Amino acid sequence: MTGKKKDIRGRHGELKALIEKYDHHYYVLNAPLVDDATYDDILRELASLEELHPELKSSESPTEKVGGAPSSSFAEVRHDPPMLSLGNVFSEKDLEEFHARCVKGLGEEVDYFIELKYDGLAVELLYENGRLVLGSTRGDGEVGEDVTENLASLKSVPKTLAGASPPSRITVRGEIFMRHGEFERINRERAGEGEAPFANPRNAASGSLRQIDPSVTGKRNLDFAPYASGLIEGASPATQEELFRLLARSGMPVTERFVVGNVRSAKSFYDHWLEHRHTLDFDIDGIVIKVDRFDARERLGATSRAPRWAVAWKFPAREALTVLESVDLQVGRTGVITPVGNLAPINIGGVIVKRASLHNFDEIKRLGLRLGDTVKVKRAGDVIPKVIEVVHSGGSTRGDITVPETCPSCGETLLREDIFIRCVNRHCPGKRLEVLKFFVSKDAMDIEFFGPELVQRLHEAGKLDTIADVFRLTEEDLLKIERMGDIIAGKIIASINGRRRIGLAHFLRSLGIRNVGDHIARVIARAVKGLDRLFEITVEELQSIHEVGPGVAESVYGFFHSDGKDLVREMMEAGLVVEVEDEADGAADEVTGKTFVFTGSLEKLTRREAEEIVVRLGGRAAGSVSKKTDYVVAGEAAGSKLDKARSLGVKILTEDEFIAMTGGVK
Ligand code: NAD
Repeated sequence: MTGKKKDIRGRHGELKALIEKYDHHYYVLNAPLVDDATYDDILRELASLEELHPELKSSESPTEKVGGAPSSSFAEVRHDPPMLSLGNVFSEKDLEEFHARCVKGLGEEVDYFIELKYDGLAVELLYENGRLVLGSTRGDGEVGEDVTENLASLKSVPKTLAGASPPSRITVRGEIFMRHGEFERINRERAGEGEAPFANPRNAASGSLRQIDPSVTGKRNLDFAPYASGLIEGASPATQEELFRLLARSGMPVTERFVVGNVRSAKSFYDHWLEHRHTLDFDIDGIVIKVDRFDARERLGATSRAPRWAVAWKFPAREALTVLESVDLQVGRTGVITPVGNLAPINIGGVIVKRASLHNFDEIKRLGLRLGDTVKVKRAGDVIPKVIEVVHSGGSTRGDITVPETCPSCGETLLREDIFIRCVNRHCPGKRLEVLKFFVSKDAMDIEFFGPELVQRLHEAGKLDTIADVFRLTEEDLLKIERMGDIIAGKIIASINGRRRIGLAHFLRSLGIRNVGDHIARVIARAVKGLDRLFEITVEELQSIHEVGPGVAESVYGFFHSDGKDLVREMMEAGLVVEVEDEADGAADEVTGKTFVFTGSLEKLTRREAEEIVVRLGGRAAGSVSKKTDYVVAGEAAGSKLDKARSLGVKILTEDEFIAMTGGVK
């Protein structure tokens, strides 16, 4: 064997051994050693090695097998036909290629049934004459684990099929998954009992289902999403859509979140759910695109690992592993000291992440975090990445993260308030700078081209010390800043001038007063009906406003009875006019303080636009229905949230009723 060949064989063996080790930790122990993206990269490297060197391939290779050997703690159940995994696509181009292969294999155009990819574990339920007789995990695809009693203990799994004449024999395949609320509840419970928390809802679902004692499973709220059938006797659906209808008639909790269409439909479905996955109260890790017609599926067939008629399009990873190198202390605008981790740079879903929030020192203790540790970092939406878990301790490089006693900015002794450590020095320069950065930001006065760096530079140049200075800035001041051009300087001044007339609620929320966000600012503005009133109002009067608690009342009073009062006066002298908004119109009255949940797809507004309307009018937009929900707005194909709203007696609105109520102005 040549040296090169030996290297390739060596690398192949190494990758195979790694995959086997990771599989064991993931499928059997429910405690993964690496994140999915790292795992998928290794599997892809293995597949491309085998493609280039087919002699390395064998039926034992992880590229040919379905992962997850069944545990010997359970009896074996054979799957016929086998429960396969899915091939992956990672881009629109990959999907086009998959489509081209289907069209070529079939010699005709195809329609696809496009579904969510639930992040849980696959199971199979066998019903005979309408009764659940056997339930099993996927295992290695051929042989799974008998978990009949465990599955039967779940509310989400029907013990008998509904309808007058259910199929005489049917296997229903689907995903067992755990909702976020339940995941948090179980981890709290485990923490209370000194047990290690589950790393994510998928591991929690798998660990909860594969319990030796079924009564433990029964106490965990696991959900079931059916999406396939292995065999059916006594009914013959011809498409996935017909199968879904049959399952729904049989009382199965089928989702209505699917579309039937072509590659373009798959792309829009992917884009939609990539943007809206946060609105679901459970994890999805992508979408699944399946040929809709069953006869076409037969003709396309399968490999030993995955069908040729379906493919998963996974979302980019949002978690990755890296090393915590050092910790910075940040002083927030309300004085809270936040530890921020500096990380060895890592690419998470296309973004290079170098820093992550560590929240507070209690969280550092809870995680058992020390310098040099390998940590799991999660990036969710626009939120700054966070460290969610220590994966390996850093050995000899480890160092303690000490809780500071004095403010890193002004040196004042810090106070501990609940889980926070706070600098209470009113003149702390670190705090002041943060107040300034916030004041000009999008969330506050929204002054164009006025980012944190410009705030810092103007501050260093002695031109910006307090928020009142913003209204005293001149074009000349700006032009003295390095790299500042005439055009941008002109735009900044125009934008500041555009804010010289401002509504009271908007002004209030821009001041950065502790505990006063958008909603409370509106509530207070509506109640006091004028800025002047805030200079004389008492804590008791503030507290008598509906929704204003003691914390808010104290901080608002504190602001208007200290330097805040002078700052506001200075701003007014510099030409600021704070207007009383006419927010007491009907729309705001009906929406203020109310909680809305949107379900199904809206036609005239996007989900985000509708949620923004609610927030603008002083209401709240929530993700899940509870007793506290005031209205559920149900669009096309509304799912389980609508059922829940009905069962709780929550008021249900159509999209048109919502628009009529709010004016629907985006
Ligand atoms: P997969 O999760 O990529 O796709 C197949 C599975 O998707 C099915 O078995 C089913 O359980 C699920 N699924 C969810 N919704 C579905 C739907 N609507 N229709 C059909 N199936 C649906 O494949 P897999 O074989 O279960 O697992 C392999 C993947 O698991 C890897 O690519 C990796 O991401 C992850 N993994 C990670 C580690 C690790 O250490 N982090 C180890 C092993 C596997």
